[in-house]
Amino acid sequence: MIFSRDIPIKKRVQVCIVGGGPAGCAGALAAARNGANVFLAEAHTCLGGLGTAGGVPLFMTFSDGINFVADGIGREVLERMNAEDIASPMVNSINPEILKRLYEQMLLEAEVEFTFMTELIGVEVNDNKVTYAIFNSKSGLFAVMADVFIDCTGDGDLAARAGADFMFGDDNNAVMPSTLTSAWSGINWEKFRKSGANPRKILFEAFDDGIFRNNDPHHTGINQTGRTLGGGNMGHLFDLNPLDEKSLTDGLIEGRRQAVEFERYYKEYIPGYENVELTGTASLLGIRESRRIVGDYVLNLEDYKARQVFDDEIGRYSYPIDIHPATTSQKDQNEFERLMKSLQYQSGESYGIPYRILTVKGFNNLLTAGRCISADRYLQSSIRVMPGCFITGQAAGVAASLANASGDIRGIDVSELQHKLKKLGAFLPYIE
Ligand SMILES: Cc1cc2nc3c(=O)[nH]c(=O)nc-3n(C[C@H](O)[C@H](O)[C@H](O)COP(=O)(O)OP(=O)(O)OC[C@H]3O[C@@H](n4cnc5c(N)ncnc54)[C@H](O)[C@@H]3O)c2cc1C
Repeated sequence: MIFSRDIPIKKRVQVCIVGGGPAGCAGALAAARNGANVFLAEAHTCLGGLGTAGGVPLFMTFSDGINFVADGIGREVLERMNAEDIASPMVNSINPEILKRLYEQMLLEAEVEFTFMTELIGVEVNDNKVTYAIFNSKSGLFAVMADVFIDCTGDGDLAARAGADFMFGDDNNAVMPSTLTSAWSGINWEKFRKSGANPRKILFEAFDDGIFRNNDPHHTGINQTGRTLGGGNMGHLFDLNPLDEKSLTDGLIEGRRQAVEFERYYKEYIPGYENVELTGTASLLGIRESRRIVGDYVLNLEDYKARQVFDDEIGRYSYPIDIHPATTSQKDQNEFERLMKSLQYQSGESYGIPYRILTVKGFNNLLTAGRCISADRYLQSSIRVMPGCFITGQAAGVAASLANASGDIRGIDVSELQHKLKKLGAFLPYIE
């Protein structure tokens, strides 16, 4: 079947960003602050992606133990969020309502134009250039024309629809399990902390008591996000295909069932949780791994091990290799822990992130940032966390703003890009 329509070209901008998660927000802010006019399209109803609508309750580390490696926009988001979030004692924990408003405020201040409920559904390509991105919205279909496009969809929708090559999962096309996060209230954090209880260990008693339908030993738990509030990053949805709506639907249904089991577990087994209530599951399913769009270089495990330095690096990062096991077996769990621990860096160590992993192979004006960048599974499992996404997002945004009117992302002066990033605060110790 061929579907064709005449649709309006609603916008002509320098930079069009698809996806308003941490990568998309950082990209939009960096590009706009560097003088570009920017349109950002977000399919959901708020900015922040998995860090807000996805209910991920905390930012992973911004530091390598010594240096603040996710500096620049990452630091600004963290500091401005903490200035407003006086209820939570943890610097990295996220109150999603505060973070949603903060991203909106920051993008409005930078004069980034953005719309919600605006989903990319198609891409027009001409001579290795993306010419139009096509969106569905309440007003109908419309097209956006831009010099440079940045794919920050997490799933690589823009690049894949343009025809870019992508990698997906392991040799059997299996990706890391997903998680439907959950929000909790009524937790007595003081009592919980004083008790010294470890929900990861007590879990095994609940397994013996038959509390869960599926005994999953990989339990990350609930993080404090407010005075009595908690964000639950727990439960895994196995064999879920993030590119298939039926699989996603099944995952959401299963995630909501798991949340009820966790409510019983915490209430009955964990001190301080006697009055806990499930206030809701996230509106956006937590996908850890989806398409990895092939760029001019694929950042990989050997680079991680070598603490690699690149001439064209746009930042450095240090979070460990964190590939969640694909099953609940203790063997897979042990292998996960072995890999994570054996490859963990010492304080002050980091790997370089070359600009070439953001430039989509075969396309003149298409960049990626965030969790769909060009990396093998090992590296993706490190750089996918939000501070990593701020690093790649801000670099893609500055690069896009430096491209000429034909959007030539490889024609930019990489040294100028690096110096602009350094001015933002980016951690680039090897760049003069
Ligand atoms: C369960 C779970 C727990 C995690 N825990 C942590 C943690 O503790 N700390 C941490 O730092 N990181 C954590 N992460 C990782 C981190 O949250 C994500 O990898 C990160 O948010 C990715 O950022 P992003 O901007 O690339 O994509 P996302 O955050 O996924 O944002 C992508 C945005 O694009 C939009 N979008 C998608 N497709 C389209 C389309 N076709 N058209 C328009 N818009 C579209 C989406 O609605 C979304 O808002 C976790 C991830 C998961 C799944």
